[in-house]
Amino acid sequence: MPTGPCRSRGQCLPVPTDPHPARPVSQFARRSFLKASALGAAAVSLGIGPRPAPAVHVSGRRTVPAKARNVIFMVADGMSFGTLTLADVFRRQHHDRQSAWMGLFSKPGVRRGLYATWSADSPVTDSSASGSAWGCGRHIDNGVVNITPDGVQRLPILIKARQSGKATGVVTTTRVTHATPASFYANSVRRDWEGPIAEHLLGRGVDVMMGGGAKFVTEKLLSDHADVTVVRDRAALLGLIDKPSADGRLLGLFAESHTPFRLDAPESVPTLAEMTRTALRRLDTHADGFVMQIEGGRVDHAGHSNDAAALISEQVAFDDAIGEVLAFLDNGKRDDTLLIITSDHGNSNPGLTVYGQAARQGLERVARVRHSFEWITDRLAGLDAAGVGQKLLPVVEEATGIKLDGGDLAVITGALAGKRIAAFRQQNRFDSALGGVLANHYGISFVSGNHTSDYVEVTALGPGSESIAPTGHNVDLHGVMEASLGLAPARPLPGMEELVKFPQRPKPD
Ligand SMILES: [Zn+2]
Repeated sequence: MPTGPCRSRGQCLPVPTDPHPARPVSQFARRSFLKASALGAAAVSLGIGPRPAPAVHVSGRRTVPAKARNVIFMVADGMSFGTLTLADVFRRQHHDRQSAWMGLFSKPGVRRGLYATWSADSPVTDSSASGSAWGCGRHIDNGVVNITPDGVQRLPILIKARQSGKATGVVTTTRVTHATPASFYANSVRRDWEGPIAEHLLGRGVDVMMGGGAKFVTEKLLSDHADVTVVRDRAALLGLIDKPSADGRLLGLFAESHTPFRLDAPESVPTLAEMTRTALRRLDTHADGFVMQIEGGRVDHAGHSNDAAALISEQVAFDDAIGEVLAFLDNGKRDDTLLIITSDHGNSNPGLTVYGQAARQGLERVARVRHSFEWITDRLAGLDAAGVGQKLLPVVEEATGIKLDGGDLAVITGALAGKRIAAFRQQNRFDSALGGVLANHYGISFVSGNHTSDYVEVTALGPGSESIAPTGHNVDLHGVMEASLGLAPARPLPGMEELVKFPQRPKPD
């Protein structure tokens, strides 16, 4: 098999032999790109030109409006039910109120379900397969974006919505090209081909895009899309809140890679709630409604790291974004918007698992944490084993306020040296060891640093939510969105009818 262009670190990627998707995805993507000046009939056929009239349902001889004008799809990425519980318990103890998400459970008209997440090739999914289940309504393999195992490229929900005249948006704390946002607008044989995925983001006409990932949005790409306004910090973003009807599309890029964990974030990085508020005001000016995804993507990363404090703060930040959406919906009085809140899979299944005052004191210690494990590891970067042994405890104390002891240090440095420190080998890692010794102070423990097969919570309200079944599978939610919006039949983008051959698969994340 021939190899594609060498990527960073000198790794050459195998390229499929099929003439269309065989090229790195960027090449078939590039054919879909038209500059704003060239928009016309051809652009309409791509789903990226001027929007057609809004979709309607045809029922017998009567034509009736679609039920939902807007869809807001919210994802707490990698959120085990234990994470949702921890944020709720934390908010009750420290904010004197329950979480916005769990507060919905008792509201009239709110539907709930418990949904399976397995992918086409594994009981434990990754984010691209589970995101694509919502994006295109099909089971696909881990590591792939909206291409089924038979090689068929499936049109993602935001592109379908745009073809029906809707405005579209993605808001995330990860890179805007990361698997979960990409699953709503892109097609890629590999989730980590984020340069080509960025070309899809800009080229397929998504209207509002916010998150990290500046390193994948090149100056050349921006110059090809002169209709896109770019903002790069919190002040610039918040300056747009009172100008919701500003012309053109909006791209907020607040970090080179993922946005920092909230525990580490400087003032210049907006919160997910702030991004959500700005995006909603802008999208709501569109005459024919909108479809958007909002992702708390770093919930997943904190789960992978077994970092209880970062996990809770990221889940609370996501919960604040739910509060913004509920305010937009006038606390449920606005009846033109379908809201779905869910997760793509569990991750590490955390739980507060000590009794009595130890549980309350554990959450108090979590509330005093100042930095994430990522901040800790950044300060240990480049040190040899002796250097880590010397610096680890002071750095952990600076980040968490907790004094670990010599026994704790031996466990962590043992994991770093590759020694067996846990019965379950999936816990035999630096961050699992650090999370494990801190569990003696927080009372919060994890089962691994991996995704889990757990079913996930689905909470929904608004038009179309009545079709949320008590149990189901993530692929079902694509149909719920389509039906509630009454989308017109989708038109494949040029080249999408050709089958894709898969190259080497990436490691799930
Ligand atoms: Zn993950």
